[in-house]
Amino acid sequence: AAVRAVNADRTRLMDVVQSVQKTLGHVPKEAVKAIAAGLGIHRVDVEDMMSFYSFLNREPKGRFHIRLSRTPISMIKDAQAVAEAFAAATGAPVGGTSRDGQFTLEWTSDIGMADQEPSALINGTVFTHLVASDARKIVSALKKVTDENSLPLFPGADAASADLAKAKVETFLEQAGPVVFQTGAEPGAGLKAALARTPEEVIQEITRARLRGRGGAGFPTGLKWKLCRQSISEAHHVVCNADEGEPGTFKDRVLLAEMPDVVFDGMTIAAHALGARHGLVYLRGEYAYLWPHLQSVLDKRRQRNLLGKDVCGRKGFDFDIRIQLGAGAYVCGEESSLIESLEGKRGAPRDRPPFPTDRGYLHQPTAVDNVETFVCAARILDKGADWFAGYGTRESAGTKLLSVSGDCPRPGVYEVPFGTTVNALLDLVGAPDAAYVQVGGPSGLAVAPKDFGRQIAFEDLSTGGSIMIFNAGRDVLYIASQFAEFFAEESCGWCTPCRVGTTLMKKSLDKLLDNRATLADIEALESLAGTVMRMSRCGLGQTAPNPILSTMRNFPEAYEARLRPEPFLPRVTLEEALREAVAVQGRESVEEGQSA
Ligand code: SF4
Repeated sequence: AAVRAVNADRTRLMDVVQSVQKTLGHVPKEAVKAIAAGLGIHRVDVEDMMSFYSFLNREPKGRFHIRLSRTPISMIKDAQAVAEAFAAATGAPVGGTSRDGQFTLEWTSDIGMADQEPSALINGTVFTHLVASDARKIVSALKKVTDENSLPLFPGADAASADLAKAKVETFLEQAGPVVFQTGAEPGAGLKAALARTPEEVIQEITRARLRGRGGAGFPTGLKWKLCRQSISEAHHVVCNADEGEPGTFKDRVLLAEMPDVVFDGMTIAAHALGARHGLVYLRGEYAYLWPHLQSVLDKRRQRNLLGKDVCGRKGFDFDIRIQLGAGAYVCGEESSLIESLEGKRGAPRDRPPFPTDRGYLHQPTAVDNVETFVCAARILDKGADWFAGYGTRESAGTKLLSVSGDCPRPGVYEVPFGTTVNALLDLVGAPDAAYVQVGGPSGLAVAPKDFGRQIAFEDLSTGGSIMIFNAGRDVLYIASQFAEFFAEESCGWCTPCRVGTTLMKKSLDKLLDNRATLADIEALESLAGTVMRMSRCGLGQTAPNPILSTMRNFPEAYEARLRPEPFLPRVTLEEALREAVAVQGRESVEEGQSA
């Protein structure tokens, strides 16, 4: 049935697998064979794809799958205590399933709730602001649930179940700015203005506005659209990258919840500019709770002729949008990985060139843009390029949405003009005494107070939106090691420098945290980080060393304080190594292991 629902389209493999998993709880061997036969592909292709994504299960899991968000922010908000409380309440160890098969308990990477940590996903439903005492209440409420696939979803969460009332997501829009969250903006105004112009004029307006991609890379949007339009093909595609997986960022979550119509306006404007008939939103699996909401907005747009045939009555302009749900893979935020995933494959990055504007989705010209970029495009067409470029700096026009989290009294989304200094931002969010700000998430930079005069802008401190604030009591090395662990887990494993290097970097930081590192270790770590940065194939590996190198540079005292004076110490002691071996062999003591 799942295969029939997608007309046996091979590119919809992800949907088919997710549908089977929703029904059976996992995707057993027989289902894999049936899916492969139905889609006309090899069983290995299905298994290969499934093995890439952390949200796809080939083995049975508990009836309730609890995924606790593990980030430096959740950890400083006591997520460890929450994990222990869930382990006690469910009887499942962290990383395992309870004996009765009811609960699986696991850590997962950031789920996009850094403003309301500790948080968890339970069968796709988001639970926020957790404290240890919630665990028992939630688990006892879950035990009474008869249909595990119908936990209340936000929005429209069923608060009737008081014990599950924690299942909610708040918006926390702390500062609306003059561009993205401007008040009084007419819905659909940008789209109408765009359709009154030729595609070339639309691209010219976006170019004049100096709009750059908001996902972090900052590529000029007008140039991207121009290159895509110029690429000759039977079809062109517009893709909205809603896979904001960078730990600490959540502003796209807020945009999708609060103004999906403007996002879809921006995509439709891009379709007009490129000559595309087909749009895709790649929604991260962690945001599955937004799917029904987005789907209903799309349905309404179809009814209002803002999508479909002859959009807005414009003869010959046919355009529609489909939402593709991801399945828990950070690397899919990289545009070529995202395209592979959209095609129902592993989300491994492609070699470039060719670039997606030439050969993207289905090897046809594709413009992939961030959620916020599409909103900006709609605003530009509505208010004009000069108005937009009047905000920000010479190289960074407009405003930027920042996702602020950590040690500050008002975490949430802030819209600020590009050029805002870190100092000004810290005053705005009520954290003037911050000791360390991570700008741009793990792939960004660790900024120390001496640099708080620097500006948030592409030409200075560039960020896709993640701003994590830490006060003087936080352990810089611990935070760096959390980031290192994140990259080691999210590496797709394709190239050796990243696959091996990220793990080695994490181990080196562990050795430092263990007070067993010497100067030689620091030098080796620095050299390794440089190799990973230079030799990795895609952005994940190339940026994975950033938190280490920038904390080394800006917080050298954090490293020096942990150094041992000896010229060299091994990473593990003989006693520890033997203890591990003894445990593996099931022996009772180190002594017994030694004698063996
Ligand atoms: Fe995969 Fe890492 Fe290599 Fe990128 S750098 S291709 S994520 S192994």
